[in-house]
Amino acid sequence: MPKYPTEASSAAISTALDSLRAEVLRRNPGEPEFHQALNEVLDSLAPLLAARPELLDAGLLERIVEPERQIMFRVPWQDDAGVTRVNRGFRVEFNSALGPYKGGLRFHPSVNLGVVKFLGFEQIFKNALTGLSIGGGKGGSDFDPRGRSDAEVMRFCQSFMTELYRHIGEHTDVPAGDIGVGGREIGYLFGQYRRITNRWEAGVLTGKGLGWGGSNVRAEATGYGNVLFAAEMLAKRGEDFEGQQVVVSGSGNVAIYSIEKAQALGAHVLTASDSAGYVVDEKGIDVELLKEIKEVERARISEYAVRRGGSARYVSGGQVWDVPADVALPSATQNELGADSAATLVRGGVKAVSEGANMPCTPQAVEILRENGVAFGPGKAANAGGVATSALEMRQNAARDSWDFAEVEDRLRTIMRGIHDTAYETSEKYGAPGDYVLGANIAGFERVAEAMTAQGLI
Ligand code: GLU
Repeated sequence: MPKYPTEASSAAISTALDSLRAEVLRRNPGEPEFHQALNEVLDSLAPLLAARPELLDAGLLERIVEPERQIMFRVPWQDDAGVTRVNRGFRVEFNSALGPYKGGLRFHPSVNLGVVKFLGFEQIFKNALTGLSIGGGKGGSDFDPRGRSDAEVMRFCQSFMTELYRHIGEHTDVPAGDIGVGGREIGYLFGQYRRITNRWEAGVLTGKGLGWGGSNVRAEATGYGNVLFAAEMLAKRGEDFEGQQVVVSGSGNVAIYSIEKAQALGAHVLTASDSAGYVVDEKGIDVELLKEIKEVERARISEYAVRRGGSARYVSGGQVWDVPADVALPSATQNELGADSAATLVRGGVKAVSEGANMPCTPQAVEILRENGVAFGPGKAANAGGVATSALEMRQNAARDSWDFAEVEDRLRTIMRGIHDTAYETSEKYGAPGDYVLGANIAGFERVAEAMTAQGLI
């Protein structure tokens, strides 16, 4: 017997969603980021469920909010002084209806189970939106790579993989990078996997080096993809990036390649930041200098202002959102852009905000942007270029092939346009044209829900 009326009234739907919300909160206490990500999805689903009440049956929602598997493990390692350290490792394998679990690893002191679950939950719908065959998962550790030597990072990665290897595989679960995990870490992780398993299994990790199974454009993909998504949103308003003033937060992989692509499209990018402060560069950010400081030297962003001289200044403790701009690309971390910052951006005349990071805007900030008619690209659509290019890396690995830069970038462009159009058309279909949050959540959810329904009660 169906649990819900076949002609689901809006009252029946909100009761069903509210009781699910309450149940998830009760079973997952102390995980505010997971609750936030969950609420954003559930808040979007009412119009879909009204049109397709059968999606309320078979415990579909109840299943989708519960990870298929959650792994937590000890990661012991020795620092350079010979002191034993113990961190905690996580891998949350959230949903494999569409393909092997796919999603990055984050190494940052803020990582805990709730953070990994929020990221894994987002990843399900993000990956579904790409249209590719990838399920959703996420992992990481509370290990802080900052200030650690290469040898310490290597020992940590080797210990982390010594447990993780038994849970992953090219057909099972395919990790990649995220905050604190870049090419160096993926190299150490891949080396240890290869050593333990005695398999040269390229498709087990993505974000590999170009000489050993990596894909062109993977390093650039999240930032490039976010700018391509923002360009599609601007195009809907008859605009493009040419001559636009852009603010970017962060100075990691996503920020760097967002800046590079926005500049290539003719934008004037004014800022970059780290957790201590930000730089404003009136001449436009020198992306090669930024790469040298952040990717090679792994130094603080304040160093950029010192080296760049006159046109740049460093603001200690502030946020880039205080700098007036036409387009804002939050590319640092979750909840970095709150209500006050959103109001400041609106006062400064912002036209579009596109999330390079995962959930960088708080729900209150999103509300303010929405009320003021700002085009808003949610991370699960706007930053999906990274994971989409990971799926292209998996495809090249499976075929033992390698595509040139132009070919991969072309495919990335097509995928980002597809994600934009799917989200936009879905928002129109459900009566909220231009609401990319609603469009992305409904389109992503529908694809996963259909696959889960077809595959039965598992
Ligand atoms: N960490 C990235 C994300 O948040 C990329 C994941 C991947 O390539 O698997 O989507």
